[in-house]
Amino acid sequence: MNHICDKENKYLLGVYKKNPLVVKSASGKYIYDEKGRRYLDFFSGLSVCNFGHRHPKIISAIARQLKRYLHISNLYSADVQSLLAEKLVSMAFGSDGGKVFFPNSGAEANECAIKLVRKYGATSGRYEIITFENSFHGRTLATLSATGQNKFHKGFEPLPQGFRYAKFNDLSSVKKVFSQSKTIAIMVEPVQGEGGVRPADESFLRGLREFADEKKILLIFDEIQTGFGRCGEVFAFKRYGVKPDILTLAKALGGGLPLGATVISKKFSEVFKPGDHGSTFGGNPVSCAAALAAVSLLDKKLIKHINSVGDYFKQKLIGIKEKYPSLIKDVRGLGLMLGMELSIKGRDIVNDCLKKGLLINVTQDNVLRFLPPLIITKSDVDCAVRIIEESISSKF
Ligand SMILES: *Cc1c(COP(=O)(O)O)cnc(C)c1O
Repeated sequence: MNHICDKENKYLLGVYKKNPLVVKSASGKYIYDEKGRRYLDFFSGLSVCNFGHRHPKIISAIARQLKRYLHISNLYSADVQSLLAEKLVSMAFGSDGGKVFFPNSGAEANECAIKLVRKYGATSGRYEIITFENSFHGRTLATLSATGQNKFHKGFEPLPQGFRYAKFNDLSSVKKVFSQSKTIAIMVEPVQGEGGVRPADESFLRGLREFADEKKILLIFDEIQTGFGRCGEVFAFKRYGVKPDILTLAKALGGGLPLGATVISKKFSEVFKPGDHGSTFGGNPVSCAAALAAVSLLDKKLIKHINSVGDYFKQKLIGIKEKYPSLIKDVRGLGLMLGMELSIKGRDIVNDCLKKGLLINVTQDNVLRFLPPLIITKSDVDCAVRIIEESISSKF
């Protein structure tokens, strides 16, 4: 382990806060280290491995595609791309239809959405996008600028122009920063992930939809983290019953391989013309094949399972909160995207859980974030909750 960490420190750019774990292998809901020690994974590679590590259906879909071709460029046709696009459009917009652009990552999916609304707004001179405090939309310069958190901006100015920040769950603050002559879109996460696992109020998302319709601007849902079953629906917006004009996806979409998607409703699907946008690797055929398998796993039965295990987990976390009210301020989230806000920093608890064989995450310094694979059972939750409670009680 040590020589790997030494090499890492010497040669890898130090942009990540690493946990002390060198992974040897991973399978289902478990990760194994070099000594063969098993860890229950309640992080899922940041909500990427939603179906567990190396799900057999995803692995065999990848193996099938490996025998065909890896990369052919977007100037030729790969059947897996259009099959996946058809599925995503139907899942997002049903018979209303739409079109998909495939990038490689979440930031690029948002970048595509940002460029598209700008192109759409160009004829009327509108270009501003309203985003929210505590949002997270990616690390490229434009998506960084869209991200409403100063701490990520510091040192990278000047950032691309054209983003205005409103308060999350506060429609009046959106109306305040809206400009008739400049605003073209609103971009929002239905549940803020990196910003501390904060679900939008139903009235807020509904209000955004009505406001966007009234002002003839677009509503973009960034479901890069919330999508793909995480929140107990195929997409979180289905729980709210509020439809976006553009939906951005990545993380779990590729079943563990890198893939993003910008899903554009029919009304806006002809804004881009050939040459307006592109990506060399975007929609990699192996990633698309994996994604097709992942989509097929996201059935009604699994959705029901996510809600039942998610509710069970949330109740257990609330139980811990009631025992330690001075340490735990809040428990919140949807489906299997849950957060526990502490009155102390969470890093120690994350390290402690790792030592005890449970992988969790902390965001915003004091919000424990739980993103288990969607296939976990109630007894996995019991196991995790026991470890979490042990760690928390040791801080009491
Ligand atoms: C992770 C994330 C992104 C960025 O995705 P990358 O693949 O890291 O570029 C954007 N938006 C949200 C909501 C995310 O959770």
